[in-house]
Amino acid sequence: MDKKLFVISGSSGVGKGTVISNFLKRNPDFMLSISCTTRKMRVGEVDGVNYFFLTQEDFTTCIENNKFLEWAEFAGNYYGTKKKYIFECLEKGKNIILEIDTKGALQLKEKMPEAVLIFICPPSLEVLENRLRGRKTEDENTIKKRLDEVREELKRAENFDYKLVNDDLDTAVIRLEEIIKGELNAQR
Ligand code: 5GP
Repeated sequence: MDKKLFVISGSSGVGKGTVISNFLKRNPDFMLSISCTTRKMRVGEVDGVNYFFLTQEDFTTCIENNKFLEWAEFAGNYYGTKKKYIFECLEKGKNIILEIDTKGALQLKEKMPEAVLIFICPPSLEVLENRLRGRKTEDENTIKKRLDEVREELKRAENFDYKLVNDDLDTAVIRLEEIIKGELNAQR
């Protein structure tokens, strides 16, 4: 396979979506994988663009029929990447970016060891904690739960190929580009 899968994960609130969309603007030849999910569509989202929105029943059928390359439960909803979708993208000769959670990323790495896992970290747990408290939208219990989740994710990130800190957006995008181009050059 001469095209690569780049899997990007990061704790919630770390701004990974913005880093990825800025990267894609500068590198339009990369494809962003579209995942399946059981969560409700948010305002402005479009089926088949942001996600393929599935019922719980359809999602379960896909799991039973082994249709997913990886899947995970996240905050009470299911998310997964279809095998067929990824193989079709690779056949088209595209490098693919997947934005998925850390559990899914590690599952995928087991099946496709050539996939490159990149974790986007917050500048520090304290900064993230202050951001969460600053929003004043969550109660203390929820904040504690979110921070526990972040600690778990940071542990899983120890098994990733790269970590990059999103302290300054432009620097993070350039660092992501360096990692990806370095990997692509290494396989030539
Ligand atoms: P959101 O509901 O905010 O769009 O996404 C919630 C979380 O689900 C994010 O951490 C995102 O990376 C993760 N996610 C999105 N698609 C997938 C997927 O296909 N597989 C897995 N494992 N996680 C996903």
